[in-house]
Order: sequence, then structure tokens, then C-alpha cells
Amino acid sequence: KLKDTRDTETVLLREKHIGPSCALFFREDPLKMVRARGQYMFDEGGRRYLDQPDVIKAAGKQLELLSTSSRVLHDSTVEYAKRLAQTLPEKLSVCYFTNSGSEANDLALSLARHYRGHQDVVTLDHAYHGHVSSLLDISPYTFRKGKDVWKEFVHVAPAPDTYRGKYRDDHPDPASAYADHVRQIIEEAHKGGRKIAAFIAESMQSWGVKSFHGPATSPKRQHMWGGGLIADEVQVGFGRIGEHFWGFQLYGEDFVPDIVTMGKPMGNGHPLACVVTTRDIAEAFRASGMESGGNPVSCEDLRGNATRVGNYLIELLNQQKAKHSLIGDIRDVGLFIGIDLVKDHQQRTPATAEAQHVVYKMKERRVLLSADGPHRNILKLKPPMCFPKEDAHFMVQELDGVLTTLEEAPGPRTEKLNGPSSDRTRQTTGEIFIVHGWAEPNGNPTQTNLLILCHPN
Ligand code: PMP
Repeated sequence: KLKDTRDTETVLLREKHIGPSCALFFREDPLKMVRARGQYMFDEGGRRYLDQPDVIKAAGKQLELLSTSSRVLHDSTVEYAKRLAQTLPEKLSVCYFTNSGSEANDLALSLARHYRGHQDVVTLDHAYHGHVSSLLDISPYTFRKGKDVWKEFVHVAPAPDTYRGKYRDDHPDPASAYADHVRQIIEEAHKGGRKIAAFIAESMQSWGVKSFHGPATSPKRQHMWGGGLIADEVQVGFGRIGEHFWGFQLYGEDFVPDIVTMGKPMGNGHPLACVVTTRDIAEAFRASGMESGGNPVSCEDLRGNATRVGNYLIELLNQQKAKHSLIGDIRDVGLFIGIDLVKDHQQRTPATAEAQHVVYKMKERRVLLSADGPHRNILKLKPPMCFPKEDAHFMVQELDGVLTTLEEAPGPRTEKLNGPSSDRTRQTTGEIFIVHGWAEPNGNPTQTNLLILCHPN
């Protein structure tokens, strides 16, 4: 049931002319943005969504001035690169600007392959690194469910998930166990005459696995990768984790990847991404030319907010965990939070249908979110970094309501679950975005504004 005929037309045109892999969220009642002002975007019903005013201002200013190729001198580009490098360890000093995280990861693979003179890649199970063909090959998240065949140059290491993974929190030393597993994979590859060019991993796997891959990439083991260690910061970078600007910094000051890729929050909707690497690797790659572009965006001041609101959110969510049997585990760093829903705490059976149900019920309460992870049972919270405490409180309060109703209803849980089945399969990208309603300042109580707390891309 689409809202009106204009929506129907847009959906029909979209279905006819836009690639179907770009799934429309909430197809039964889709969101349509028509204009933006200040920090808000408005949909066709005049409802207000959060936007980022500084980004719009900076982009507009630059467009008015100049939009040109990156093969001429440009102050913003070098200034931005300099400032970006200042956020990173010293040896990561050379930037290649690209238009998307996928391009950045594709280039990162080329850099590592050129530098190392090998082809093989070690990747983590369930990882997603982008949609270009070189990355589909190394993204088990995608190639496991599609028809794409597993390529012999790809080696999949278990995701370091200590909640539901191969080595769990009851293991005496899960970190070393995961690291040893990676070492075995490398040894096997070498025995088969293969040579590893790169190890690519998100600094925190973004569908919210329990732990990080610190052990496999810790300073002691860094030499294992000899210049081919790629940290994908497309989702977790740029201060989201609060405490640090980059996710890999969680593993200590000594830990420095060889190549770091970044994207999404870098342009806040504007197509801007980057690969940063060392001078040595860049020189080895010099033969290939690269385009670059971009406009500087500062988000330093948002990190404190990510820490403060993230901690507050976790405090509230832990209270919910004590109250609701559906919540098996909550993991977080700053404003990057996963809520793992389970049918039972003993087996940790993923509550997949329940998670989808929660998504739909939350939408009825004007809070939009989606479920992610290999079992689609993890609610992932990744709101904009300016997210205030009041919204955190509102979101948790609504979640409490939905979980209470779900847990209290009589009969087997699966019978109570509803929601348009056509949309259930659409939770594909695993981002969460939340919409929050409040009353208009003009006092009109029926008018509901919507605040997007995380963009669905
Ligand atoms: N790496 C990670 C971890 C991602 O989540 C994504 C996108 N979801 C990408 C790379 C690809 O980025 P883009 O969509 O900008 O190509």
C-alpha cells in the first residue's frame, strides 16, 4: 500500500530503470526526500530528517568556486590530505582519493598486490568489502549466498566472534586461537605453492561480531603480512568509536596497518573515499595513475559526543538486557553498537524472525532500524555522530515497549511475528537507520517529524 500515486510512480520507475540490487527500504511505505534546509532533510509530507549542514555548506562553497580534475594543483586537496594524515600514524602519509569505499578497497588490493608481487588474499568470514568484482571475490558475505564461485586465491579465516563463533568466550584464549587459525591458513596456502599478498579486514567487523581481530593483526604478528595489511575503516572510521579516530587504534599505538581505506562518513553522502598508505607502497605503485578529489570535512568535535552518548546508550541497553530474555548480547564501541537477539541464552540460537519483527514494530513507532549479521538477528546501531542523549533515550524506550509486547504475548513466539514478508528479505545492507517522531514547535500534535539517525547505505 503505497502512500500516494506519486510514490507508486516513483517506485515503478525505480523498478524499471534502477538496478534491483539497490534494494528499496520499506517498500510498502518507502521514504522519499524532496528538499533540505539547515541540518534537516524533508520528505514529500513535509517531515523533517536529520542532515549534516556543514557538509552541504562546504560542498556548495567548493562547487561555486571550482570543480575540476585532480591533475592540477588544488589547495583543498593537499590541505585535506595533510589533515587526514595527521589523524593517522606517521608512516601512513600518502593519500589516494576515490569516489566510493569499493573503489578504495579495490585500489588497496592493487597496491598490496603490486608491492608484494603476490595475488592471494586472506579475508574474514562474513566480511563485506564492496561491490566491484575484485571485492565480491573476497567478500564471503556476498559470495557465499550468490552464485559466485569461491576463487582459489581467496582464503577465508573465521570471523573472531567470541559470542557465536568458532572460539567463544568460554575458550581460555580465543584471541590466540583465532590468530593461530590464520597462521594455519597461511601455512596451508604456502604448502600449496600460493603466496599471500594481503590480509584485509574491517578494524571491527561491522555487523557486530563479539570481538575484534586484534590477535591476528597485533603488533607482534604484523610482520606476517609484510606490507599487505589492509584495514577497512569504511564503516567504523572517522571517530565513530569515540575513544579513537580510527578503529585499528583500538589495538594499541604500535599497531599500524600498511593500507587504510575509508569512505562513507568521509563525505557524509557526498561520494568521497580514500586510501592511505606508506611512501614505500605508493612508490611501488607509481606506475599506475590515480584520480583524486574532495572537500575537507571536520568531525573532531563529534568524537566526544560519540563516547558520551555511546556510553549512555550502552548503560540504557544493559538495563534492557537484564530485563529482556531476547537480548543475548550487546557489544559496543562508541556509537557503534550491536544488539544480538537470541531465542535462548544457552544455545545462543539467533532470533532471526524476532529481529525482523522488532524492525517492523519499531517502524510503527517511527523508529526505523534493520537487522544484520550472518543470521540477520543483530540490531546494529550506527547513528550520526551528533546523536543526542534524548534520542538515545527515546530509542531505548521504544525498543523496551516492542520487546515487552513480544515477550509477554501468549503462544509460541513465531506465531506472533508479522510484517510484510516481501520486505523481510530486503534487510540486505545491514545498516541501521532510525526515525524518531516528535511534536512540531507550532503545537500541531498530529504532525510527526522524522529524524534519521543513520543513513541506510
Ligand atoms: N567496506 C565496508 C566495510 C562497507 O561496509 C562498504 C559498504 N557497505 C564498503 C566497503 C563499500 O563502500 P561503498 O558502498 O562506498 O562502495
